[in-house]
Amino acid sequence: MYQAVIGVEVHFELSTETKLFCRCRNSFGEAENTLCCPVCLGLPGALPVINSRAVEYAISVGLALGCRVNSSTRFDRKSYFYPDMPNEYQTTQAFIPICVDGCVEYELDGEVKSVGIHEIHLEDDAGKLIHSDNGTRINYNRAGVPLIEIVTEPELHTAEETVAFLEELRLRMSYLGISDCKMQEGSMRVDVNLSVHKPDQPLGTRTEIKNLNSFRAVANAIKNETQRQIKVIENGGTVIQETRRFDDVKGVSTVMRSKETHEDYRFFPEPNLPPMYITDAQIDHIRTNLPEFASKRQKRLCTYYGISSADAKIITADRLVADYFEAVASLCDQREAANRIVRDLMQKQRETKIHITESHLTAEKLAEIINLFVSDRISRRTSREVADVAFCEPIDVSDYIEKNGLFQITDEQVISDAARSVISENAAVVNDYRNGKSAAFSYLVGETIKRLNGRASPQIVNKMVDLMLKSNKNL
Ligand code: ADP
Ligand code: MG
Ligand code: ZN
Repeated sequence: MYQAVIGVEVHFELSTETKLFCRCRNSFGEAENTLCCPVCLGLPGALPVINSRAVEYAISVGLALGCRVNSSTRFDRKSYFYPDMPNEYQTTQAFIPICVDGCVEYELDGEVKSVGIHEIHLEDDAGKLIHSDNGTRINYNRAGVPLIEIVTEPELHTAEETVAFLEELRLRMSYLGISDCKMQEGSMRVDVNLSVHKPDQPLGTRTEIKNLNSFRAVANAIKNETQRQIKVIENGGTVIQETRRFDDVKGVSTVMRSKETHEDYRFFPEPNLPPMYITDAQIDHIRTNLPEFASKRQKRLCTYYGISSADAKIITADRLVADYFEAVASLCDQREAANRIVRDLMQKQRETKIHITESHLTAEKLAEIINLFVSDRISRRTSREVADVAFCEPIDVSDYIEKNGLFQITDEQVISDAARSVISENAAVVNDYRNGKSAAFSYLVGETIKRLNGRASPQIVNKMVDLMLKSNKNL
């Protein structure tokens, strides 16, 4: 009878060339403290300059999530002290976020659901503390990297809904191509706010859960926290508004800190950055350049290429794979293209950890292989083998097939000669055939293929043996 009420705050690191307020390079995994300057180190007198690309990215996210873009917006200082923050404040948008009032539809078990987006704001990231036995080091390479924070309305109710929404969100972000969206590396970070109540009662007090670095951890944390809060209430206690840390290995959450109030942050407008004005023309320009998102593309691939909805879903789960599919499908049999990508290449991609588009198997090569298969020049098995090799090595497809003797014999004259001698040497089998034994036919086909070193096209052999048996009734 208790219902969980969930709102999430999701941070994405934007993959801009440079940081949000300085020209330091924005890059992950470089040598420690090599991507820093007076601005992102918060040195006195250094002045920030806003990165207009980050602003464009934030607007495109807003449009992708159905938000309204504020025509004028600004930055505020959020004061707090922590060693990974070089300034004594984070530069964020506390009062006039860049985008507001959005809505995202997502699917769960075939049902379309939606969740409101309260706001999207831009802010700078902190550095990273590296704890070890010898003490703690700080790496400021990440300090000043642009982040967007997407805040939903408290309209989710279960772990499944939340994860389905987050998957849709990540998919849209990856289609926009503006973030790596990797939870393990921290380029996508999810904080869960959760309360419980009885549906006819007002909303309960929420806790915020941090330190979630996979969708699995998000789901586990939600289930765990829902039960914990229900137990607290049923035991006559009250839920305290606090921030909790979830340990996915132990499956428990612990208090991190009691929730700061707005006042603690002492927000005030950032004096070193002017307000930003965003024009309708700018918004329209960004809107026109939005990609076709996955769910729409999935439908189009089904109707346009005649592939199954399930295949289209797998293909469109990755924008680059969808691009690859369309490139292949424009050059060969479309269903076969979908088939190969979904059944063979996705598997290969997982095994080798090489993305299809970074493998040696270009769209042209895959189409060439498919065309050779469809026209019966190579067997299905050969076509899969060649694709497998071409994925890892820069082979020339027909050279490789030629050199390895993998082309099928399709010459009808050659095949009928072979069939004729097989038939004449197997009078007893032919007799069985005449008496209606269907296994006899298969035997003759098999023998003919063997005679041609296993390289004859089975379809043509079938056809020739059949023709010959029928035309030579008295053979
Ligand atoms: P703050 O300003 O303290 O960050 P917000 O009102 O902006 O708080 O909400 C932050 C997040 O908490 C949002 O994702 C919102 O949906 C969620 N939230 C707010 N109230 C509740 C509640 N009672 N139960 C669950 N989540 C909530
Ligand atoms: Mg918040
Ligand atoms: Zn810098």
